[in-house]
Amino acid sequence: MKCPFCHHEGLKVTDSRDTVEMNAIRRRRECLQCLKRFTTFETIELTVQVRKRDGTCEDFQQQKLINGLAAACDHTKISHDQVIALASQITDELMLSQLQEISTTQIGEMVMKHLQQQDPIAFIRFACVYKRIKDMGELEEAINTIPYKDEMIRNGKVRS
Ligand SMILES: [Zn+2]
Repeated sequence: MKCPFCHHEGLKVTDSRDTVEMNAIRRRRECLQCLKRFTTFETIELTVQVRKRDGTCEDFQQQKLINGLAAACDHTKISHDQVIALASQITDELMLSQLQEISTTQIGEMVMKHLQQQDPIAFIRFACVYKRIKDMGELEEAINTIPYKDEMIRNGKVRS
């Protein structure tokens, strides 16, 4: 991407609050050379079909992923910026996989893999919704998949 004024390639993002509008990410940028500021819209181009639990398909929508992540990460140490970053990372993985179709369960697994590394509380909250955890046994099973949980419990980081 180049500056629209001087065509310099060194740009920085000035406002970290990216907003997603109609499958495009809106970003405020500043040129490092002429210091002019401008807004970019980065289109998310995806043709991946998502197969839902009821068997129907729909186009992949990054906003849905962001919504699900934001709900799980609310009041955790994962900020909204990190939610946006995580959503675009997962979207990138999806695009790189070059799959034509993916199930909601597979997307859920991808999300959980990331959340597991970032925040145990957000991971558990997401898992409760995605895996439809109904009882304590299933909850314990999910907790046991967190690779570093013993260490975190020892350090008292999991207390809430
Ligand atoms: Zn410039």
